[in-house]
Formats: sequence, C-alpha cells, structure tokens
Amino acid sequence: MQLQLHPFQLQLRDAFRIAHGSRTEQPSMVVSLSQNGHTGYGEATATTYYGRTMENLTEKLESVRALIETTELKQPEDFWDLLYPHLEDDPFVLCALDEAAHDLRGRLQGKPVYRLWGLNPEKIPLTNYTIGIASIDEMVAKMNRLPWPIYKIKLGTDHDLEIIENLRQHTDAIFRVDANTAWTPEQTVELSPKLKALNVEFIEQPLLAEDWEGMRYVYQHSALPVVADESCQREPDVARCHQHFHAINIKLMKCGGLTPARRMIAEARKLGMEVMVGCMTESSVGISAIAQLLPLLDYVDMDGALLLSNDPANGVKIEAGKVFLTEDAGTGVSLKNG
Ligand code: MG
Repeated sequence: MQLQLHPFQLQLRDAFRIAHGSRTEQPSMVVSLSQNGHTGYGEATATTYYGRTMENLTEKLESVRALIETTELKQPEDFWDLLYPHLEDDPFVLCALDEAAHDLRGRLQGKPVYRLWGLNPEKIPLTNYTIGIASIDEMVAKMNRLPWPIYKIKLGTDHDLEIIENLRQHTDAIFRVDANTAWTPEQTVELSPKLKALNVEFIEQPLLAEDWEGMRYVYQHSALPVVADESCQREPDVARCHQHFHAINIKLMKCGGLTPARRMIAEARKLGMEVMVGCMTESSVGISAIAQLLPLLDYVDMDGALLLSNDPANGVKIEAGKVFLTEDAGTGVSLKNG
C-alpha cells in the first residue's frame, strides 16, 4: 500500500462550547491508503484534550510508513493487528489507518463496507444534532435554524435544568443530554426524573470518568438510562461499564477504529448494554466510516461534518436526522480537492 497524508484545518460554523472549553477550528489529518489503483480514506483529528497535535500525528504516521508500504492489504483486521504493537498508545492514528484500510478493502471488492460485514441497511437509527453550551437564546436559535428530530444538548452549567425547560418550549424533538463529567452522583439522580418529564431520552457521562462508585449509585437510582462516553474509551472499558451504565458511546478515534469498535459492540451486546457511536469534530471522511456501523447501533451521534463550514470531503448524506447509506464501494468518501 501507499500512504499519503492530507492535513486540513476544519472550520466550525459556530464556536462550539462544552463543559471543558470552546473552539472554532479543528486541525484534522486525513490519511489515504492506495493499492492496485484504488484508494481508501481515514481520519484522525488533533485534540489538545487528548494530547494530540498535528506534529505528533504526522510523526506517528511516518514511523509506520515503511511497515505499511511493504504490506499488501488483505483483511483490515490483520492490518490492525500488524499496526497495534506500534500504535498501542496512539488510537487516533490507528483509527485513521484502520478506517482507510476498511474503505480500501471495500473499494477493492466493489462493495460498501457494511455489505462486506453482512449488515442490512434498512433499519438504522436517526442521528442527533448537537447543541453546544451557549446562552439560552443562542441555543434556541441554533435549534430553530436546524429543525431536527433528536438534539443532543451539552450541559455542565449552573442552570442545566433551566436550559432544558427553556428549550422544551420550542420543540417536541427528543433530547439527549451530555454533562461531559460535570455532575455529582446526587445531582444526577435528582435531575433524572425532572429531565425524564421533559422528554429527555438519556444522560451521557454525568460523572468523572473514574468515578465508578458514583456511577454504580447513579445506575441503580437514575430515572433515565446513563450512557458511558469518557468512561468507555478502549476495549477493556466495556466490561467495566457493565452494571455502571445502561449503554456505551463508542468513539472510533478513542478506541482505535472500526475493527475494535465492532468487537466493543459485540461485547456490549453480550453484556446486555445498548450501543451508541459518537463522533468528534471531524469531516465526512470519519463520519462516513461511522455510517458503516449504523445497522448495529441503537443510537448515533454523527453530526460532526454538519457543524463545519469547510468539509474537505464528500461522503454520507444526512438530512434532518436521516442518514442515507448508499451502495458506493468502501465508505463512499472522496476528497473535494482530489
Ligand atoms: Mg459525550
């Protein structure tokens, strides 16, 4: 295979604020793998929250270039096993290469990735649209600008219930809330019936990632299901979440790509947990990789590319929450400038 790096600076339509900070730009590294005249794409973003810069993404990718360029792609799962010892500490880079390998394999076979996995695209969940933390007026304005059947509302302010009460005046859409670790166990349990009465579907990551004792209490007493995000990053975390969360939210960049994500989904199912896949602020390259998993999911948050004003790729189409899976080979992505 040949490896190519395509760095981009993604621009957000609106500043995006969560409990940890705010941003308007997102550096992103798209990688491509080519073999026999076909090219597959994957993506890793540089995220200071996880200590990733464009420089160290580039350095890591260059460190495995020789290995990649002397390897012929057969099964993406074998390629993942080959890379893992070199990229164990770098799931973002592993993710980009794994997504590209799945895309390339699909193109070599002339089939969409989800078809190669034997999945039926007819029953897939709607994706939510995320509303970042802002003044209540701004949050209402954002919601009204994009009518959507499900919104994920970022919380972690000193007036979280007031936000949801106000937003509820303006829409009948389903709400999901994501506290990004900002709440206490008591606060979560106390808020849960009030949020449920406001047609909130679930609470994502209320507590600090390591507060397992607190989560056990919330799991037993919350009126709403709780979904692990920061507490469920890599494969061994799935078993830890059992009986602490009702569902897990898998992010491809945190777990290392589609290959481990499929194993995490299978394990969560075995343990009786529901499954969501979420996204980062990323382009249609990463979003189209997520789309391949849709038939396996209960919930999905794949609005990352919709939040951008300069998506560098064409990929999966999303309209008012509905995701359109196509018969395009691989993940169906193409770069606009390529
Ligand atoms: Mg989250």
